[in-house]
Amino acid sequence: MKVMKFGGTSVGKPERMHQVAQLITRDNEPKIVVLSALSGTTNTLVSIGDALAKGDKEKAKQIIDQLEGHYHAFILSLLLKDATRDKANKIISEHFEFLNIITRISFNEALNKDILAQGELMSTKLFSLYLEEQGIKHALIPALEFMSIDANDEPQVPVIRQKLMPVLDANKEVGLFITQGYICRNSKGEVDNLKRGGSDYTASLVAAAANCTVCEIWTDIDGMHNNDPRVVEKTVPVEQLSFEEAAELAYFGAKILHPTCIWPAQLEKVPVKLLNTMQPEAAGTVITQEAGSVGVKAIAAKDGIIAINIKSSRMLLAYGFLRKIFEVFEKYRTPIDMITTSEVAVSVTIDNDQFLATIIKELEPFGTVEVDKEQSIVSIVGNDIAQTQDILSKLFDALKPVPVRMVSYGGSKHNVSLLIPSGEKQHTLKLLNKGLFGLN
Ligand code: ASP
Ligand code: MG
Repeated sequence: MKVMKFGGTSVGKPERMHQVAQLITRDNEPKIVVLSALSGTTNTLVSIGDALAKGDKEKAKQIIDQLEGHYHAFILSLLLKDATRDKANKIISEHFEFLNIITRISFNEALNKDILAQGELMSTKLFSLYLEEQGIKHALIPALEFMSIDANDEPQVPVIRQKLMPVLDANKEVGLFITQGYICRNSKGEVDNLKRGGSDYTASLVAAAANCTVCEIWTDIDGMHNNDPRVVEKTVPVEQLSFEEAAELAYFGAKILHPTCIWPAQLEKVPVKLLNTMQPEAAGTVITQEAGSVGVKAIAAKDGIIAINIKSSRMLLAYGFLRKIFEVFEKYRTPIDMITTSEVAVSVTIDNDQFLATIIKELEPFGTVEVDKEQSIVSIVGNDIAQTQDILSKLFDALKPVPVRMVSYGGSKHNVSLLIPSGEKQHTLKLLNKGLFGLN
């Protein structure tokens, strides 16, 4: 059994959905197909919720009507037979009727989650109707029956396994399952979700829960690249990454994969493959236990970083100073990404500024606090970087013109991170592409 996940753009046009049907029927291996909402839908659903939260029912209604029009037009090109088109129009109308009812009752966060769930519910139902029309035997299995998060909003693989296995067993003879990404139930039994971009997470959780042979993530690029293709001209796909390397890259900005989706696959040692719907034969990137080779593999950058520097002569020879500082961040549930220290100062970075003002206030008794906004973390990821010959000299050579604010090396064997002003990011990624990979 394997998992094949298709994102919003892979199902966002009727002809792309047709192509997905081809890709999942190329072989007879049993599979669970996880689908996102049609591209743009979740954003639109977010804006419906936003309008309702502000009490602007008229605007919400306007967005709903426009989206409904899009779906009925979609059905016309997706399906060929009048009977299936009628069926599809009826199903879509029911979902929009539901959205319309929501505009008339008092809005709350739980209802907002119901709104957000409509995208994946509709994409999978439409896809299932297309398969039906094509005579492709399959079972549509509702994610709301087996995907769940606990009271801390965390999914638990054993719990999901316990609910998923009977659903699969009940349809054993089918061998082709279609389900929704992103949506789940929370500990109160309400409809909830795995946060934006969460369909990758669903795929990895399902692959882990069902002990799949592979978790395939199908997008529209040929795998994870060595650098950001939006910034540098020449990039190459990375053939193989370890789970640790992939987690660092996903967390530090490689957009192709959601960072949370690594751990479930890693837990059950299910390889993850990043594949391209436009070039199904391309090798893509394989993420496994083993890194495959030693050395630098890729660079990723994350914007919106804030650096906080705390300087105090009281830190000199003192113990417990760091603990007191970290406690402030813990109190406000603000994760720290990078840390560097000297004997009398410590710098940390955060990307969530929700409690920044309060955090600064509570840090002030410990020393002089300085804050630098609009910073970026550039992360250089690879296997056994510390063992890589000349890595630091190559790195600093390439970085000569860049005002580097912080460097973190040695925390893991897979990563060197730099903090630079965001305005220097493009330049830095280009310099590193040349300096580390010999690419322009
Ligand atoms: N549809 C959801 C989103 O756009 C989940 C996903 O596509 O991964 O965030
Ligand atoms: Mg995505």
